[in-house]
Amino acid sequence: MNKDLFLKAAPILNQIKSHGYEAYYIGGSVRDYLMGRPIHDIDITTSADPDEIETIFEHTIPIGKEHGTINVVFNHENYEVTTYRAEGEYKDHRRPDEVFFVRDLYKDVERRDFTMNAIAMDTDFNIRDYFGGYEDIQKQRIVTVGEANERFNEDALRILRGLRFKSQLGFEIEGHTYEAMKNKMPDTGYLSIERIIVELVKLLEGKDAAEVYPMLLALDFFKYVPFFKDYDMTQVEIDEPLTLELLIAILLFKQPEVNGALAKLKISNDRKKQIQRYVQLFEQLGTLNGKKQLRVLVYDYGLSVLSYILTMQATLEKNDIPLSHPLIFNQKTIEAIYENLPIYQRSDIAINGKIILETLNRKGGPWLKEALRAIECAIINNELSNEQSEIIKWVKTNV
Ligand code: ATP
Ligand code: MG
Repeated sequence: MNKDLFLKAAPILNQIKSHGYEAYYIGGSVRDYLMGRPIHDIDITTSADPDEIETIFEHTIPIGKEHGTINVVFNHENYEVTTYRAEGEYKDHRRPDEVFFVRDLYKDVERRDFTMNAIAMDTDFNIRDYFGGYEDIQKQRIVTVGEANERFNEDALRILRGLRFKSQLGFEIEGHTYEAMKNKMPDTGYLSIERIIVELVKLLEGKDAAEVYPMLLALDFFKYVPFFKDYDMTQVEIDEPLTLELLIAILLFKQPEVNGALAKLKISNDRKKQIQRYVQLFEQLGTLNGKKQLRVLVYDYGLSVLSYILTMQATLEKNDIPLSHPLIFNQKTIEAIYENLPIYQRSDIAINGKIILETLNRKGGPWLKEALRAIECAIINNELSNEQSEIIKWVKTNV
């Protein structure tokens, strides 16, 4: 049931209350509960200050103590407990340097971004809703707490968060809030790219990504984001949710990377590798002709990458990325190939570079890499059996 996570966390709130402080559920979990959506994690807000929370509970981790957040470990689960806080001056249109701990719930919810995220709920599931958040949830609209221009002026990330929530929840953005997004979009240029990427990833994977993407274009969002600003983002068409990696791969396939531009995004190396693999895959899919090549492709990319690409076929076609004929490249075929692959990775080969060098009595060099690849492909296509003696024989005649 939807209430389960709250009931599991209730003893924490009750314990805080037994010490004379207030405690509420707050933020995304309350919003999602009121919407009937699945709840992923529970945030707790309290009038107790971080030192007091540390005294009340046996097992705590001071993950963000200076900002008021203590992790309380309870029944082997982690709960973020954050002290009511008000925020100081905003500089540079991003997070304030200073926060003040306060004892008044109103002050805490007042600094939150949207009305739907500013609803506090107690352990009896009664809500404290100072800004009409529940009504906005029912009317499915995204409205800032207080004057939108001011709130976006303080922290421009809220603009992107608003668009991300629209994509995830399918809500409308209230008129005044949208106007302010338009006005304040240039301030997103002050944000760290890491914070932008977190929101962009969620936005693109949200159920209404296809509707929000044109809004990003209309609001000139990409003009203020490193890397993206050097590309013509109108060339990418989106009509379903997709991963950030796939979006960028589509972009780079159509408009090749300007020297090291991807570095500006400061995404993990894993993400970059994934992007490059997609781009390579697109190149190979365009020229794929026949079962042998497909077997190697299944071996090289694995089932999950290829399956994802197949589910995204419509988007790829829309973006003029040529896929091979469905009779050659389809889910059933790649699954059948995958199940029957004789090897799944290079270390499965019954020989290695060292043994080859010893048997052939040759010096290493680029030829060795080519030889290993040739052996690999021959095994994948069952032209060579994966036994050391067979491979050595094969190497002697073919290399
Ligand atoms: P999600 O379901 O994606 O976790 P969320 O609403 O819980 O959504 P979080 O980023 O987890 O979002 O933030 C928790 C709460 O903190 C928000 O609901 C909101 O009240 C507040 N908040 C977060 N970021 C901001 C911000 N930039 N400005 C104002 N309030 C914010
Ligand atoms: Mg959250």
